[in-house]
Amino acid sequence: MLQRRQFLAGSAVVTLGALGGLGWAPVWAQNAPDLGLPELPNPGFARLRLGEVEILAINDGVARRPLAEGFVREVPLAQVQAALRDAGLPTTHVDIGFTAFVAILGERRILMDTGNGQFGAPTTGRLLAHLQAAGLPPDQIDTVLITHFHGDHINGLRNRDGSTPFPKAEVWVPEAEWAFWMDDARMNAAPDAMRGAFQNVRRVFGPIATQVRRFAPDAVLMPGLRAIAAHGHTPGMSMFQVESRGQRFLNLADLSNLPALFVRQPDWAVTFDMDPQAARAVRHKILSMAAQEGVTVGGYHFPFPAFGQLQRQAQGYDFKPART
Ligand SMILES: [Zn+2]
Repeated sequence: MLQRRQFLAGSAVVTLGALGGLGWAPVWAQNAPDLGLPELPNPGFARLRLGEVEILAINDGVARRPLAEGFVREVPLAQVQAALRDAGLPTTHVDIGFTAFVAILGERRILMDTGNGQFGAPTTGRLLAHLQAAGLPPDQIDTVLITHFHGDHINGLRNRDGSTPFPKAEVWVPEAEWAFWMDDARMNAAPDAMRGAFQNVRRVFGPIATQVRRFAPDAVLMPGLRAIAAHGHTPGMSMFQVESRGQRFLNLADLSNLPALFVRQPDWAVTFDMDPQAARAVRHKILSMAAQEGVTVGGYHFPFPAFGQLQRQAQGYDFKPART
C-alpha cells in the first residue's frame, strides 16, 4: 500500500501507457521529505512510469535568446518567424528550456545531463533545487550519464569552486565525445571562438579524468538502459533509451532543439549543430522510428515537461507533450 509520504513526494504524476499496480511505490520516494504539502502540480519536475521504471523530468530553467538571422542555418529569418507564428509562439525571441531526465532503475538513480550549474543565464541553474523538490537529493544520484559536452549539459557537474554536487556519482560519457573534446591538438587548432568550449570540458572532467567511464556507441550500459549514437549535433552525441515491460523512453538529448522548428522541420539545423548534414540525417531516422513505434521521447530543449509523443505529419512531425 502506498503511504502518505510517498504520495506527497512528487506532485505532477504523468501516466503514459499501462500503469503499474496501485501498490507500486517508487524507490526514490523512500527518502522524500514529508512536508505535509498538498499534491499540486510543481513546475520544476514531472514524472512518468514506464513499466517498472520511473522517469523524472527535472527542469533547470529557461534562457531567452533574441531571434536573429542564422539561428536556423540556411533558412531566411522570415521563414523561421512564420513557423513560430504558426506554432503560436513569439517571433522576436526564442525561449530555450533545459530539462534533464532521471531514470530510477531498480536501486539506481541515474541523472542524464546536469544542467547549466553556476554558469548559465540567471534564469537557469535550478536543477539541484528541483531534484531536491522531487525527493532526490543530489548526493543520492549514483550515476551521471552525459549525452554530449556542450556547456549547458555538463556545467552542472562542477561548481565554480571545483566541488561537485554529485559526490557519489559515477560519470559515464560517450567515448567519441571524449576523444574529440579531450584532444589537445584539436583544441590548439580550433578557432578562438571554440577554444573556450574545449577548455570548459577540461574544467569539468579534468579532476575526474581517470575515473570517467567512456562507453562505446550504442553500448548497453546496464539491463534496461542503452546508448544510441546520434552524431551530428556534436561529434559524439549519444541518446539514452530506457526500456521496461515493452515500453520505451528515448532521451533525444539535442537531436532536435525547439520542437516547433526542428521536429516540425527535421531538415532545419539549429546554429549549434556542429555537423548539420549528419544532424539532419540522424534526426530524420530517429524521429521517424520514434513516431512509428510509439516511443515516449524527451528532449533537453523541449518546453517543460519536455516528454511526450511524436506524430507524423504531411511534413515532419508534431510533438505532443504529455499532460501533467
Ligand atoms: Zn543543448
